[in-house]
Amino acid sequence: MDLHTSENFWPIKNGLIQDFPSLQKSLKTDVLVIGAGISGSLVADSLCKAGFEVIILDRRDSAHGSTAASTALLQYEIDTPLRDLIKKVGTDHAVRSYKLCLKAIDDLHKVSKKYPSYSDFTKKPSFQFTSFKSQLKDHQEEFRLRKIHNISSTHWLEPKDIKEKFGFTKHGGILSRDGAELDPFKLTHHLIKTHWKKSLRLFDNTEVVDIKHHRNGVTVTADTGYKVQAKKLVIACGYESEKYLPKKIEIQKTTYAIVSEVLDAKKFWHKNALIWETADPYIYLRTTSDNRILIGGKDDDFYNPKKRALNLPIKVKSLEKSFKELFPKIPFKTDYQWAGTFCGTKDGLPYIGAIKERPHTYFALGFGGNGITFSVIAAKIITDLISDKKNEDVNLFSFNR
Ligand SMILES: Cc1cc2nc3c(=O)[nH]c(=O)nc-3n(C[C@H](O)[C@H](O)[C@H](O)COP(=O)(O)OP(=O)(O)OC[C@H]3O[C@@H](n4cnc5c(N)ncnc54)[C@H](O)[C@@H]3O)c2cc1C
Repeated sequence: MDLHTSENFWPIKNGLIQDFPSLQKSLKTDVLVIGAGISGSLVADSLCKAGFEVIILDRRDSAHGSTAASTALLQYEIDTPLRDLIKKVGTDHAVRSYKLCLKAIDDLHKVSKKYPSYSDFTKKPSFQFTSFKSQLKDHQEEFRLRKIHNISSTHWLEPKDIKEKFGFTKHGGILSRDGAELDPFKLTHHLIKTHWKKSLRLFDNTEVVDIKHHRNGVTVTADTGYKVQAKKLVIACGYESEKYLPKKIEIQKTTYAIVSEVLDAKKFWHKNALIWETADPYIYLRTTSDNRILIGGKDDDFYNPKKRALNLPIKVKSLEKSFKELFPKIPFKTDYQWAGTFCGTKDGLPYIGAIKERPHTYFALGFGGNGITFSVIAAKIITDLISDKKNEDVNLFSFNR
């Protein structure tokens, strides 16, 4: 699959942090993880901390899949609003899913607190404005539900509050205390670096071409001709995981992002909060550690690399225009632009766990706009399953729903 266009901001900003060899001999390990993106690195980090020996294989350079293209806003708000998710999966399931995303942000905060420069993790409020007057009632209901289920500290902002805090005029909106942003490329490399040559070995530019499941584990063959035998296998291949599943679970889209030049001012709006909206497709904004503004969104409902490359200049203009409507006084000039494949699911929840067709195998598929927080949840669930520990959330994201 062609995951993104070439000019992704994070690999350019960070350069070559570290590089790994391809697999040039056959090996054995406790757990083999396919995929060295943010999901594979979070799963590997969690497994190494639990005492397992781990090997990661990746067909690209590490962190060069969707992780390189991610805009990395961390939000507890799932693509499906709470009021709709309750209708789809029931109140307990929906509320627990929201709360697990909130906890995932907190978990990432703990990982990053010790070494902030390794991920540029920054806590940020998150503001979702009501795009159209016709959506006001539903959005107020969303606010009420989040309040009664005590999901995060939230405030409803009236138009005058929005004007005061953000400088633009909108019908209303939910300001939540608990969001964050990070650099997904840096974090992935940091997690790998922490365990590499201790309990973790990584081989990139190594494609898995065959998987055999046995009574006691799996044997995986790579395109280099060598094999890895493992007691357990984790598939963290992002949007390229579908080839390992018996049925289609992903909805493919194309999404677009731009990053401004470095700006002089340090504060652009209220606490440089994450900003997004109720329109569908929506646009969203964040800032970066080197004082830029990043805007994303304007999704298209297709996967077509040729078409998305043709669309990119049009989408760049459209994102710039939307930004100018909100902040006419900020001199936004695009420095980097890219388009990426983006996959969601019907209910907005990820798929995490095992399927009966593939023994000794677990999937960490954080599909949707919360891909990173979902991967934190996947790392915890999968580590518990492999460690034979009880995990009460295992059914929330299972393939049987
Ligand atoms: C433009 C964009 C914006 C986004 N914004 C956000 C956001 O704001 N917040 C958020 O939480 N999420 C966001 N996401 C989603 C998030 O980025 C993804 O969920 C996340 O990056 C997925 O990481 P991953 O490790 O699962 O996949 P990847 O980073 O794609 O890693 C999977 C790896 O598996 C490897 N692989 C696949 N098949 C094989 C094989 N057969 N053999 C060996 N290796 C293989 C690939 O080479 C790849 O490196 C965004 C995504 C995009 C594209």
